[in-house]
Amino acid sequence: MKEISENLKLATIKSQLTKTRIQVGEITIGQDLVVMAGPCAVESEEQLMQTAAAVKAAGANILRGGAFKPRTSPYDFHGLGLQALKLLEKARTAYGLPIITEVLDSRDVTWIGEYVDILQIGARNMQNFALLKEVGKSRKPVLLKRGMHSTLKEWLNCAEYILSEGNPQVILCERGIRTFETYTRNTLDLSIVPAVHELTHLPIIVDPSHATGRVSLIKSMALAAVTAGADGLLIEVHYRPETALSDRDQQLNLPQFADLMQAVLRLKNFMPTLESLADHAKNN
Ligand code: PEP
Ligand code: MN
Repeated sequence: MKEISENLKLATIKSQLTKTRIQVGEITIGQDLVVMAGPCAVESEEQLMQTAAAVKAAGANILRGGAFKPRTSPYDFHGLGLQALKLLEKARTAYGLPIITEVLDSRDVTWIGEYVDILQIGARNMQNFALLKEVGKSRKPVLLKRGMHSTLKEWLNCAEYILSEGNPQVILCERGIRTFETYTRNTLDLSIVPAVHELTHLPIIVDPSHATGRVSLIKSMALAAVTAGADGLLIEVHYRPETALSDRDQQLNLPQFADLMQAVLRLKNFMPTLESLADHAKNN
């Protein structure tokens, strides 16, 4: 505990005993279970609108969609940029869902912030300190993804960069880390969820889509994340995943997402019973 928190002034639980709550539209992140869902990238009006309608109907709270995509190859699809932001705005108006998108460059923070409700810092940019400082000056909530090679200490120090610039609205997101395992795209580090709660007052959500890279594993890991105490989930959903321009293997189709949401909501209702059973077992 001491080694991790020695440089942290604002992120630690010692500096703020009450949990950070972030109001985004009708949802209070850090209090209500939040589900952010939508395509990896915004690809067309039809794709976004149909996906948005379905995730809303299934019970998602926030619509995600990449406008600027960090891709492994310079020749891959890099997103529709401004056109995607305009489509996200349109979907927000049509379905009443707040929107989140990734910002890749510190020069884009201010103008992208005018379009969206939450700014996402991707895993590849977790330690882009110029970008962290810039979102720290913004008044928008920031979703800070864990770097794929980053320790908890490094991650929390990045949150501290944002907090120390005056932006208290930081949400952490575990999205899997690189290990020797190759069957899954990354390895979901679920123990980080209670560890974050033990050390900080910040909300943490889990992204089982990028963590596993496989549709077949996403629902189980979403349920495991909620059971571990995650404040929410980030799930990639596409109306026709087989045609997706990025992350094809990990985007749920619309019925798969509806099924996941039903299971998550059932689990959420059962959680107080689960917790009291655990307390009962501990005390006896
Ligand atoms: C994403 O959520 O769109 C994304 C690119 O994820 P990550 O930064 O976790 O790889
Ligand atoms: Mn993706």
